[in-house]
Amino acid sequence: MSRFFSEKYKNLVPYVPGEQPQEIKYLKLNTNESPFPPSKGVAEAVAAEAERLQLYSDPDSKELTAKIAEVYGVKPSQVVVTNGSDEVLNFAFMAFADEKRPLAFPNITYGFYTVFADINHIPYTEIPLRCDFTINPEDYTGINKNIVIPNPNAPSGYELPLTDIEKIVASNPDNLVIIDEAYVDFGAESAVPLINKYDNLFVTQTFSKSRSMAGARLGFGIASEELISDINTIRYSTNPYNINRMTAAAGYAALCDNDYYMKNCRIIEENREQAASELKKLGFTVLPSKANFIFAKSERISGEKLYTELKKRGILIRHFDKEIIRDYNRITIGTQAQMEKLVQTVKEILEEQEG
Ligand code: PMP
Repeated sequence: MSRFFSEKYKNLVPYVPGEQPQEIKYLKLNTNESPFPPSKGVAEAVAAEAERLQLYSDPDSKELTAKIAEVYGVKPSQVVVTNGSDEVLNFAFMAFADEKRPLAFPNITYGFYTVFADINHIPYTEIPLRCDFTINPEDYTGINKNIVIPNPNAPSGYELPLTDIEKIVASNPDNLVIIDEAYVDFGAESAVPLINKYDNLFVTQTFSKSRSMAGARLGFGIASEELISDINTIRYSTNPYNINRMTAAAGYAALCDNDYYMKNCRIIEENREQAASELKKLGFTVLPSKANFIFAKSERISGEKLYTELKKRGILIRHFDKEIIRDYNRITIGTQAQMEKLVQTVKEILEEQEG
């Protein structure tokens, strides 16, 4: 730390992203990317836009915003696009939470929430999950705090039924409820249809997972016009050109090819069920997931050892060094061939260490 670093950030513990080896040596099943490339239309749109990089991007990303609104059945004024959904989450924390309006979220969840809260000096409560890692909706009803819940949750993959989400939103009318739907396209139900019924509901989504665009950094928020207008106040005070030309063009093209992406999501779901069943045959406990990853543990090998042994053999998965989930690993779902390779390698590791 330099002697110039501001006092207000000196205790900040930054978010630690999953490993991102750039040499593409590994089978990457560690950061929930799609194994499928973007559609052809996306590459063409990016190439065309690259010719116009001398011009600033549209600060309102009008075409992309209108397309998202069309696909999700809302008005363009109910949509804001951001540099990954991380940015819209940070903006929402900045806009709606403070010392007087603290936050609550599950104790096992996306690791960035505590960091966004800390950097914005927002007090927060981490609400414990049940022993089986599910969220108890009663813990969130009428709690008089702003709430953030990923649905499905990460890294468990559990979906909270929409009826429970609605109860939480309805029982906290004077607080904002943010539903982080980064993984919703892999079989869970979205809360977007509730947007016009509740003015305290804010939904975030991303192009990083289901639309194969993690590297382009594109996320969005959907909410009432008033909430979106507040986010735009923050956005225009931070970085009005938060979406670069190529990403905006890529996002628009991706939505024009939506069928391709939704078909890929169905393939991921099939591969997920297949991989879960194969791992269960090897004695693993696999939590029921509605995301593009599974969370699994085995009595036969520790979470850390499995992570290390797979890495030695060229496969990256995610291990979290946190007491309650130390036995588990989060495994991103890839193609059928990739999942077969994973299962086969796990089998070999177990046999080697037991034989
Ligand atoms: N929410 C959750 C639950 C996530 O796991 C992630 C991915 N790390 C994000 C949001 C942010 O993803 P992105 O910024 O790529 O949209």
